[in-house]
Amino acid sequence: MKKDFYEILGIDKSATADQIKKAYRKKAIEYHPDKNPGNKEAEEKFKAAAEAYEILSDPDKKARYDQYGSAAFDGTGGFNGGGMNMDDIFSQFGDIFGGAFGGGFGGFGGGGGQRRMKGSNLRIKVKLTLDEIANGVEKKVKVKRKVQAKGVSFKTCPTCNGAGQVMKVTNTILGRMQTAATCHTCGGTGQIIESKPNNADAQGMIMEDETVSIKIPAGVVDGMQLKVAGKGNDAPGNNSIPGDLIVAIEEVEHETLKREGENLHYDLYISFAEAALGTSKDIEAVNGKVRIKLEEGIQSGKILRLKGKGIPSLNSYGSGDLLVHVNVWTPKTLTKEQRQFFEKSLTDENFIPHPEKSDKSFFEKVKDMFS
Ligand SMILES: [Zn+2]
Repeated sequence: MKKDFYEILGIDKSATADQIKKAYRKKAIEYHPDKNPGNKEAEEKFKAAAEAYEILSDPDKKARYDQYGSAAFDGTGGFNGGGMNMDDIFSQFGDIFGGAFGGGFGGFGGGGGQRRMKGSNLRIKVKLTLDEIANGVEKKVKVKRKVQAKGVSFKTCPTCNGAGQVMKVTNTILGRMQTAATCHTCGGTGQIIESKPNNADAQGMIMEDETVSIKIPAGVVDGMQLKVAGKGNDAPGNNSIPGDLIVAIEEVEHETLKREGENLHYDLYISFAEAALGTSKDIEAVNGKVRIKLEEGIQSGKILRLKGKGIPSLNSYGSGDLLVHVNVWTPKTLTKEQRQFFEKSLTDENFIPHPEKSDKSFFEKVKDMFS
């Protein structure tokens, strides 16, 4: 979507940095959510002004915008994709309009500055075999988590009186402005430790081993990350919530099966005689052996598709297929008798290749597989 950032801020292209800042401050105050509670349109305008200011206040971005328009920011970390959220705006530009609102702006709605602290995430890797991926599996892993020690108690932070933030008054080009900063005494929680057991650290935390059970759905892919909510580190304070445990999936390569998305590939080698006479073979699939029948006269390069014997789809019903690639093994040495037999067969009509339409070339087969 094309946007005119100058129009949004009500300025023209020749505006100076100061004028841009003043124009943004005016719009931000006009559409501030504290002044327009529940007003969706004001919220959108508030966001649009922040976006315009984000671009126009940055000389590099402004130059890009002037040359290419707002399209220069689509999908490149500009705000056009996901939109800017209110917390971003307050944390990025809070100082621009901080003084205009008394109640602080620790979050949307301006209801006090105290933040709910979230603990940090923990990361682990889990190795899975193809069989485990095909069936889904529950894994128990040991993690070392930082948790709040038993017996730790908190009291209201005397520096910020529990607000989590302190106000600073600074003189700027726009006059005296009040800015909010995270309280250094309590780190933004609004609470400090009243008492704690001896084995706890300065934040009242101890390290604890915990066995976490992770349900891994069938069909996961190497490199995928699963989140176990609340199994990361605890954060200090009464009101805090723990971080998450991020589980990275690592797929152990299978000895004989090659995975390609939801499909599996297997290279089957049969002897010249088996190809000529026909045979049955057991194929090692992900859920045990599968018996397949090979017709007499089967050609090398033929691909047999075993429907539904691949990997289940993670996001929908059904499973991929197992594709068996038939390779005819040619003997590398021959006995004298064998040599004579093949020499005779050189002129035998039966041994002269005469492919039919059904004996598709390799490339045609590949095309079929993906159509
Ligand atoms: Zn504090």
